[in-house]
Amino acid sequence: MRDDLDKQLCEKYPLIFRDRHANMQVTAMCWGIGVGDGWYNIIDVLCGHLYNEYWSTKSRYDSIKDKVDQPTYGFKPDGDPVGKIITQELIDEAKAKMEEEAAKVPVASQVKEKFGGLRFYVNAATDKHYNYISFAESMSYRTCEECGAPGKRYTDGWHTTLCDIHAAMNGREEQYESDEGDE
Ligand SMILES: [Zn+2]
Repeated sequence: MRDDLDKQLCEKYPLIFRDRHANMQVTAMCWGIGVGDGWYNIIDVLCGHLYNEYWSTKSRYDSIKDKVDQPTYGFKPDGDPVGKIITQELIDEAKAKMEEEAAKVPVASQVKEKFGGLRFYVNAATDKHYNYISFAESMSYRTCEECGAPGKRYTDGWHTTLCDIHAAMNGREEQYESDEGDE
């Protein structure tokens, strides 16, 4: 993947790509996000889903963290408080919840192409996270790895998922269509 796109993903999802520049003895992420630019959106949407719970607990925390002893929804013009008063305890609880969710965000250990499909390996994840990953990997078999247009998997010689234009540019011939890759 192009350096600037790789960087964008790492900056948007630092928890997932926290090992991006770690030592090669620790992670395969040091080699970068090893797929074509055409799968950028698939990875972006996947990471957004993996971040979902964390982001919602973070926005909750951010919305109250500087408002100790203030009402949840501010004040009416006549000065009456709206909502309940935010206590330090409530703020601490929101922070703990956010940190708990941050710890559950999966950390990518390798992102690569194999047999024409995306492989998104993580250190650990919940069943829900694995379902998102599996969906993203399935979508890659229908998405041109070069440009992101609808594509199919070509299997003449080596496996690649391409749109009609990039298949023609690369002189690829369709041998059979398949939705799923070989493991
Ligand atoms: Zn294409």
